[in-house]
Amino acid sequence: MTPKRVVVIEGDDAAPEAVRPTLALLDQLNLNIDWLTPPVGDQGKQRYGTTFPEQARRAIDESDATFFGAASGKSTAALFYLRFGKQTYANVRPVKWLSGFNSPLADPKGLDLVIVRENLEDLYLGVEGEIKDLDPLDLTSPFTREKITNMSPGRYALKVITEKGTARVTRFAFELARNRKRHGRPGKVTCATKYNMLFRSDGFFKEVAQKIAESYPDIEFETLIVDDFAHRLVAKPQQFDVAVMPNLYGDILSDMAGGLVGGLGLAPSGCYGDNYAYFEPVHGTAPDIAGQNIINPTATILSAAMMLEYLGFKPEAERIEEAVQKVYAEGRILPRDQGGSATTTEFVKAIKEYL
Ligand code: ATP
Repeated sequence: MTPKRVVVIEGDDAAPEAVRPTLALLDQLNLNIDWLTPPVGDQGKQRYGTTFPEQARRAIDESDATFFGAASGKSTAALFYLRFGKQTYANVRPVKWLSGFNSPLADPKGLDLVIVRENLEDLYLGVEGEIKDLDPLDLTSPFTREKITNMSPGRYALKVITEKGTARVTRFAFELARNRKRHGRPGKVTCATKYNMLFRSDGFFKEVAQKIAESYPDIEFETLIVDDFAHRLVAKPQQFDVAVMPNLYGDILSDMAGGLVGGLGLAPSGCYGDNYAYFEPVHGTAPDIAGQNIINPTATILSAAMMLEYLGFKPEAERIEEAVQKVYAEGRILPRDQGGSATTTEFVKAIKEYL
């Protein structure tokens, strides 16, 4: 069998301190994977004068997936290529409570949901500007009847919801729910938007999602206003299975959902397109704890497990998840954000022993 090719981008600040031991862990599994480490960020700058040299772009194009630490400024160009260049439109963020996770909830048992965040559109197109630039459009608020340009000086940001973008991410959510149903989950998709205020943009997201739902009669479907979703997520997160939503809501609420099980150190993610995927923890680069060997690598390790499943190494992915579960259930060696005192190295060593 030809080996799979995976690009590794360690990322910035504390991220490499989680990525390196995770790779060492994967090494134990004798996977048929060629790891590519093109120069990105500082390394790219030093060798080629740019944080995202052509060599790195080519390595990504020739690979099956990328494993990413987390980016601050230095690796962002690579991240943008992975997202927009490779059209990875579905950001999948599983939130599952495991025994031993330091959840703030009184009863986190049974919490097992996935937020599927649209990854390429909405307010994240980055089109912002001065209100006065909208002059030629002669826009008026339907609520205040005021001319938008009368509100100048000020700024605007463009929110874009397309039929294609919404349909593909919703379909992805339904397929995921169907797959999870085969493994004992209820088979339910919740669509969360602000359709009661943003009739034409979020309302359209909901409308397109409802259309897609018609092709999945075996999957329960509900639409919620996103603020109601947020409330329910805190009050009774166990009611959710798969939740699909536009970019911004997904970004915010998946961090919040991560907080429900015990923090960002535990939340993995994968960004999937039709032909490519990359995997990274939900958290950022944790610059405040860089260099201390105390970052919780669980989110990075679980992201690696998601990647192995994507690449066709499901038994190995399960072995990793089981090893993580055992270390937490035992509760003897835990990272600091989970109430323990283990360093990153000690914690990964404990997982390695169970592997
Ligand atoms: P971004 O904007 O990229 O999400 P950020 O700086 O806002 O980045 P994080 O880097 O995620 O956010 O950090 C938020 C807080 O959570 C920091 O105090 C950080 O140390 C902590 N944190 C994040 N990830 C971890 C982790 N894996 N282990 C321990 N603490 C973490």
